[in-house]
Amino acid sequence: MADDLVAEFDATLPAADLALVRRATQFAREVVALRAAAWQRGELDVRATLREACSAGLASIELPASLGGQGMRFGAKLRIVEELAKADFGFAFALVNHHNALVRVAQAEESTRARLLPELVAGKRFGASAYTEPAHGSDLVQLETYADRADGGWRVTGSKSWITGAAWADVFLTLVQIQPGSGAAGIALVLVEADQEGFHRDTPYETAGGRATGLGGFQLRDYFVPDAAVLQAPGTALRAALEGINGARCYVAAMCAGMLESALDLAIEYATKRRAFGQPTIEFQGLRWSLVEVATDLAALRLLTYRAARLISSDEPDLRKFAHAAAATAKKFAGDRTLHHLSSCIQALGANGLREDYPLVRHMLAAKMAAFADGTTEMMNDRLGKLLAARVAGA
Ligand SMILES: Cc1cc2nc3c(=O)[nH]c(=O)nc-3n(C[C@H](O)[C@H](O)[C@H](O)COP(=O)(O)OP(=O)(O)OC[C@H]3O[C@@H](n4cnc5c(N)ncnc54)[C@H](O)[C@@H]3O)c2cc1C
Repeated sequence: MADDLVAEFDATLPAADLALVRRATQFAREVVALRAAAWQRGELDVRATLREACSAGLASIELPASLGGQGMRFGAKLRIVEELAKADFGFAFALVNHHNALVRVAQAEESTRARLLPELVAGKRFGASAYTEPAHGSDLVQLETYADRADGGWRVTGSKSWITGAAWADVFLTLVQIQPGSGAAGIALVLVEADQEGFHRDTPYETAGGRATGLGGFQLRDYFVPDAAVLQAPGTALRAALEGINGARCYVAAMCAGMLESALDLAIEYATKRRAFGQPTIEFQGLRWSLVEVATDLAALRLLTYRAARLISSDEPDLRKFAHAAAATAKKFAGDRTLHHLSSCIQALGANGLREDYPLVRHMLAAKMAAFADGTTEMMNDRLGKLLAARVAGA
């Protein structure tokens, strides 16, 4: 059932997009899967593989062809990160964050774009989005990275934390507040470069799972942002950042589906070969039914996710207006169900499911991370709850 849904979705993609998805599947199997455990142990640098993915066109999916990208639509990006997450969520998440940053840099003014974009596309430099701060995650309006007016630009001081790719990124799309106390009206998006004075990178985090995300933070101390590096004017930046959030929630849900499918396939294969009490363990109804529960929710997750993806990339404003609720629902479902079902897959392998030779525990920790990134499950509940209340109020 879940495979049928993938085939159905893939059938809607243009041939070139589908070819890139197939390339990602191969890259995930032949490259990412073989390196993932070493990334998690901190034994191997992720950057070399990110660069290989850039060369394969996997980091410029939505960048227009005229700017050196693939000029593809959201559906291709969604399926590519889903395939990569089957091998390693952390790597897929690092790559898609770099992708999103370079697509945003492509909209910067001409000289910035010309200086940075080719190197970002080639993976000679990396990009990241820096919104979260040590004291503010979900409640971004309160951010305390302050920018003061200076001659020809702004002087910025503050800290960012939990940034994907902070371990290695060169270019950070950073939310700053220009007028303390003014909330969203004072928030701007600026470009911060790691090789400039006033930028101080924190030691990257040693997270229990998803270490290939390169999570970490940085400090800005009297860092100078020239006017040309203001990407989004105060008052418009938070809204613009949130506009991309539907897509992010949707592809995080797809990545959860990818991890769940890889775990389910592994559990089925193992339980078909493993024997106990004179028969393959898959013949025990209890175990078999637990895998049916996984398969059922995997199908439900894909239905929600692919529907959200279609709404996000619809050309019809009347359909796009449903994308917000659809993406939040898919992300909430992923956040609630993936962790639970990955645990069932581990159960099907017995104690062997805990071994590092298998990706299951790595997937499980990554599923927990997925429930925080791009809005926590509670934030999905809050959003969906408000929409429910509005529906009653409007009836
Ligand atoms: C893998 C990963 C990648 C990330 N990548 C990035 C990145 O690239 N850039 C970036 O800027 N940030 C990134 N983040 C940070 C992420 O966006 C934040 O972790 C997230 O917004 C939540 O913020 P917080 O962790 O500070 O939790 P808090 O906001 O402090 O919340 C703590 C807990 O309280 C709950 N809570 C908060 N408010 C409410 C409420 N109103 N009702 C009910 N419960 C509530 C939350 O759901 C959470 O469970 C990443 C995080 C992870 C885990």
